[in-house]
Amino acid sequence: MEHSLADEMGLFITIHDSGHIASLLQNWPEKDIKAVCVTDGERILGLGDLGCHGMGIPVGKLALYTACGGMPPEQCLPVMLDVGTDNEELLKDPLYIGLRHKRVRGQAYDDLLDEFMKAVSNRYGIDCLIQFEDFANVNAFRLLSKYRNKYCTFNDDIQGTAAVAVAGLLAALRITKTKMSDHTIVFQGAGEAAMGIAELITMAMEKEGHKQEEGLKKIWMVDSKGLIVKGRDSLTHEKERYAHEHPQMKKLEDVVRKLKPTAIIGVAAVPGAFTEQIIRDMASFNERPIIFALSNPTSKAECTAEQCYTLTQGQGIFASGSPFDPVTLPDGRTFYPGQGNNAYIFPGVGLGVTACAIPHITEEIFLTAAETLAHLVTEKDLSEGRLYPPLCSIRDVSAKLAVKIMEYAYEHNLASLRPEPSDKEVYVRSLTYSTDYDEFVVDSYRWPADSMAVQSCKL
Ligand code: NAD
Repeated sequence: MEHSLADEMGLFITIHDSGHIASLLQNWPEKDIKAVCVTDGERILGLGDLGCHGMGIPVGKLALYTACGGMPPEQCLPVMLDVGTDNEELLKDPLYIGLRHKRVRGQAYDDLLDEFMKAVSNRYGIDCLIQFEDFANVNAFRLLSKYRNKYCTFNDDIQGTAAVAVAGLLAALRITKTKMSDHTIVFQGAGEAAMGIAELITMAMEKEGHKQEEGLKKIWMVDSKGLIVKGRDSLTHEKERYAHEHPQMKKLEDVVRKLKPTAIIGVAAVPGAFTEQIIRDMASFNERPIIFALSNPTSKAECTAEQCYTLTQGQGIFASGSPFDPVTLPDGRTFYPGQGNNAYIFPGVGLGVTACAIPHITEEIFLTAAETLAHLVTEKDLSEGRLYPPLCSIRDVSAKLAVKIMEYAYEHNLASLRPEPSDKEVYVRSLTYSTDYDEFVVDSYRWPADSMAVQSCKL
């Protein structure tokens, strides 16, 4: 595997630095950090345990804070917590830069995390945002519930994914002219993405006036052992919530035939899991079946955009985790599949949360982000099959998300910035980083900024 230096520009903290994290943070040259993205590299999506090489993830995510949200890069700090790796190949690799031992788990791991969270908030303030990325299931859920009411933190794999997927569903509801609570949803996969999305769907149903238990009953999950039902073995605490009274079933095809869902969401990284049979069945009992093949990368998608649109004769409402080209059906209709990329959510959430100094990020903030994103999809986008605004409008999308989050935060007494900015949009935009040059000096020749813009437009 190749790694460039740019992949690894961040702060490395190892398990052997325990007791010294506060002084390590002093080594980072920037003092005004507003957003930290941290990983321990254990479950880098699609690639598994990358150990120390997981640093590319926080670096990349924070680059998106700047590129998509406008967060000044110097306010962003990527962190890799190196606790070892269980990746044998890396342990044997003479060029591996990380600790050469198995992952440290248990109390020592927890102590490191506790110390890290405390050190970050002591140095950069209690409102410094800490985004968790690519932690394994076993740590992701429990660390989120441990820290969410104590620090300004969220887990993007759980909550960011949830918001982007629910935004897609809310946009789909504008097509089907239905409410969230009218739907029965089957997940293929019951990991971080599925749990996060299901939680936010339940909240959206509650907002429509339904009790939480009623919402939970409309959500079903299939994991590697089959349909999650009451009494089945291998049920974690998170899975228990979605275990209903029902006979056990192994195959997704049988589950879909039996439950007749209105929406299926693929988040198990099992390529082709949405078979021709499943897609045809979905179209047979739904006028507009919702089919989200969210697994990444493209090679892991549950079905392709073309399969969805062709097999449903253009009736399928499709979103994917990876990009797909537009699809033209034999009757001439062209559909533009929506890509449910988390980059629609976390830069805007980060911008909004840091702009008004929200000390704890509630789940409602993610629902607000999802609703705002869905609202930004135009009727024209919907008519062409797009469930998300075009990616080229991402800076504007992020700013609008940030403004809505600020409005929500002040309304619900969550913001600690005082006085409350009267024009939040102007305030948010005043904080964002501009990539425009005032002027550009090349070989002693001074190019005015607008002439550079003309030059780059011509390229
Ligand atoms: P995860 O490891 O937490 O969960 C994977 C789940 O799939 C587990 O519950 C596992 O039991 C289940 N699974 C494995 N094999 C299965 C099988 N044969 N049949 C049914 N279920 C099976 O991973 P995650 O974070 O939930 O991510 C899952 C997928 O979703 C990945 O491909 C990821 O790229 C994708 N994802 C997409 C987005 C997005 O599009 N915005 C965001 C996050 C994750």
